[in-house]
Amino acid sequence: MSQDVTQPVLQGGPAVGLAEIGDCWSRVRSRLQTEVGDVEYRTWLRQMTLVGVDGDEVTLHLPTRFLRDWVRSHYADKLSELWQQENRRIRRVDVRVGVGIAAPAGFEAAGKEAHPASELAGSVAFPAAQASAPVFPAGVPISGIRGMAEAVAGLSPPPAAAAATPERAEGVSLDQRFSFNSFVVGKPNEFAHACARRVAERPASPGFNPLFLYGGVGLGKTHLMHAIGLELGRADVDRGGRPTPSVAYMSAEKFMYRFIAAIRSQSTMEFKEELRSVDVLMIDDLQFLIGKDNTQEEFFHTFNALVDAGKQIVVSADKSPSDLSGLEDRLRTRLGCGMVADIHATTFELRISILESKAENSGVAVPPKVLEYLAHKITSNVRELEGSLNRLIAHANLFGRPVTLESTQEVLHDILKAHDRRVTIEEIQRRVAEHFNIRLTDMSSARRARAVARPRQVAMYLAKQLTSRSLPEIGRKFGNRDHTTVMHAVSRVAELMELDAGFAEDVELMRRMLES
Ligand code: ADP
Ligand code: MG
Repeated sequence: MSQDVTQPVLQGGPAVGLAEIGDCWSRVRSRLQTEVGDVEYRTWLRQMTLVGVDGDEVTLHLPTRFLRDWVRSHYADKLSELWQQENRRIRRVDVRVGVGIAAPAGFEAAGKEAHPASELAGSVAFPAAQASAPVFPAGVPISGIRGMAEAVAGLSPPPAAAAATPERAEGVSLDQRFSFNSFVVGKPNEFAHACARRVAERPASPGFNPLFLYGGVGLGKTHLMHAIGLELGRADVDRGGRPTPSVAYMSAEKFMYRFIAAIRSQSTMEFKEELRSVDVLMIDDLQFLIGKDNTQEEFFHTFNALVDAGKQIVVSADKSPSDLSGLEDRLRTRLGCGMVADIHATTFELRISILESKAENSGVAVPPKVLEYLAHKITSNVRELEGSLNRLIAHANLFGRPVTLESTQEVLHDILKAHDRRVTIEEIQRRVAEHFNIRLTDMSSARRARAVARPRQVAMYLAKQLTSRSLPEIGRKFGNRDHTTVMHAVSRVAELMELDAGFAEDVELMRRMLES
């Protein structure tokens, strides 16, 4: 139950500290990369180098003023948080302009290129956590763990705030960017969004408890959960005299590691009590509990205790409760008995709205045709879409050049190529032919009967959406048809999708299957 804030990492003079500082820095970088994603990391953070650590201050270098300003305004909190998780003595992270390393005496610029973050990204050492000593000291209240969502057990001591001020979890680990305001609502997510809003307004209302959000990667599950938490923590909401609800948000993985840690340090009672004392418990990415029987069991009991006490549970996963195989039946049943809301794959319209909203906030003028191009090419998930747009904006800012279609193709060359690789026109033809039950050869035959012409048009439409092939190239693959035929097919299918929801769903389904 120690609240001791002393920490060995930087003690005992440089001889003890250096290697460890290097390791800390490597871990900070790799976690940063994991958390912000590859694209963002490469755009803003990769060039960052460690200059040194002086007392409670870490100094980092970036090569340009622009990068420095950007990183200061966007990642300062994250950097401090990650450094604090490494060493609770760190109070300040100073980002300056500088190239290479100017290590002050006694400090080593460890971790710079010797440990490219990409190599480390996958090695955030959970297995080590299992093998090592208690990963969080006993008695640090769960709700006081700063950045509970991020705290990677086993790698890090608890951050300073956790040990020093056992504050409640509200808002602490929530990303301010993931608010309801910044969430763009469209057909694919409107139901999930409405449910999330409802839970944020009136937690634990009958029929909405638990709220189970599911959908593919990067479609906004985490965003909605944070939005619920942020909304619940808002000070300006009139609660008719009731106190602000306490919210705990964590990923299922963190739940598991916290639980394992509690077992090791014989503090499971505290763990349970802490969890059961919150008003709203949110567990993200529940699929990671699959096969983890003890943890599932613990979660089940926590779940029941909270629901019985009239508290709200919000859970996300990549599949619906009934499709999450490997989940205990009784847990599955309980998860499915509140509100289950599906976030569908994005539509072109939603992708455009999201891009418009993000471009608007960036202050860089992005021409509509570039947004359309991106929305056509990057269909897999919003995270990638966002990352691509961020990269464009970064380039525009760095080089002071306007964003054009040409510059977009250049700047996003690698991303666009990766998308192309994912699906070929042949695959599209095969899948669509199967779906409509026509022969594959009819994709390139001269037959014009509606029964084959419509599927062919759908395949052309999907080829345009899912590959970066030009209209003439697509035409050639469909029995040497003219590019105007392809163009017509694309607009016709888009039109039909507007008119006929069933048809639209069919096309979306094929797209999803092709993309997965
Ligand atoms: P998931 O948890 O489903 O994998 P996230 O919630 O992490 O996805 O979303 C990935 C990224 O896309 C986040 O940056 C999020 O803000 C953004 N995003 C997803 N959906 C939307 C949306 N409808 N409006 C605005 N941003 C979105
Ligand atoms: Mg998520």
